[in-house]
Amino acid sequence: MGQCDICGLERKTRGVIVEGAEVEACYACVGKQSGEEKKRTVKKERPKTVKEESIVENYAEIVKNAIKESGKREEDIAKEMNITLSYLKHIERGEMMPDMKTAKKFEKKFNIRLVETVVLDFTPANREKKKELTMEEQAEWE
Ligand SMILES: [Zn+2]
Repeated sequence: MGQCDICGLERKTRGVIVEGAEVEACYACVGKQSGEEKKRTVKKERPKTVKEESIVENYAEIVKNAIKESGKREEDIAKEMNITLSYLKHIERGEMMPDMKTAKKFEKKFNIRLVETVVLDFTPANREKKKELTMEEQAEWE
């Protein structure tokens, strides 16, 4: 038995460091102490950002121009890229967004940029706030 330096009760105590000083504290007070420390750790959360890839908004225009400049027939391009002609036409008209794999094929083939990296900011102050909205999200706002 000893005396708790924190609550003053006569209890079994052990030495703990509180705000840099060693004190004798009972188990109840040691428990409170560590609880506070846990909360403090949460507050110190580091900035966290997540990078996500998305297709650029004007993908249709870019693809259309690239095909025009190549001087090739859409049929041939579709064949070369191993996609269907109707899929290619849908992309050109902006009716269908190319999937990531197809978009990257286009990028390589025509030396264009269709994929952009969007940074999602999860730091406490900016939680839920995104630097750029994806197309689906923009559509939701309209
Ligand atoms: Zn105590």
